[in-house]
Amino acid sequence: MRVPLVVGNWKMHGTVAEARILAHAVRDGLKRPRGVEVAMCPPFTALAAVGEAIAGSPIALGAQNCHWEDKGAYTGEVSPAMLTELGCRLVLLGHSERRHVFRETDEEINRKVAAALRHGLRPILCVGETAEQRRQGLTFTVVEGQLRAGWAGLASAEIDRCSIAYEPVWAIGTGVNATAAQAAEVHGYLRGLVSELGSKDTAHSLRILYGGSVKADNAGSFTEEPDVDGVLVGGASLDAAGFVTIAKKCAAKGGAS
Ligand code: PEP
Repeated sequence: MRVPLVVGNWKMHGTVAEARILAHAVRDGLKRPRGVEVAMCPPFTALAAVGEAIAGSPIALGAQNCHWEDKGAYTGEVSPAMLTELGCRLVLLGHSERRHVFRETDEEINRKVAAALRHGLRPILCVGETAEQRRQGLTFTVVEGQLRAGWAGLASAEIDRCSIAYEPVWAIGTGVNATAAQAAEVHGYLRGLVSELGSKDTAHSLRILYGGSVKADNAGSFTEEPDVDGVLVGGASLDAAGFVTIAKKCAAKGGAS
């Protein structure tokens, strides 16, 4: 059985002091989460403080991005080795804001995925279509292209250590979430692709998260879908009580009592 994964993407929110308060509140609200794995991805500047706040707890630390090189003349960038040194276990890659605002290409994202894996980080590759692409019936084509390109050249054992987040661009930060049925349809399609790109076993064990305007009151509808293995939460992860509720709703799927 796939244990649901709930990841908070804090985006560019929170001073170190604010991040500490939020991390402590989530940690205290999820002392012994059963049937769910939880991770928080604060801004780079708050990674160390959040890492300290959740040390010894089952909550994992993640980053929102990384560069593909280990070090060098890349002003403003952060390498995977720098993230693992701070205790990061996972990294979001190819988030739609990185793709659309910062013009990251599939090729760059692919290099980042490979670099993250080389350093023992678990990459969560984000894929998703725009409203216009969905209107044109291109949803499957777009997510397939992003997945194939993002994982290009990976060995099956490397794909085993990956996760995917299906995040329709039109649902991110808009308050307009996909329906559970829309998410389930795309997740099913992605799982079929994982079977082809990795193996049947990998497709069975790999987690595919849904992201896009997930809140405490709609999280349960997604995780009721057999192919939705947790959620990636942006705005709602900045509210500790709401995020804890989301994690508990997903835990119900993971067999928590
Ligand atoms: C995200 O940033 O990955 C996200 C899903 O944002 P929101 O939950 O705010 O839509």
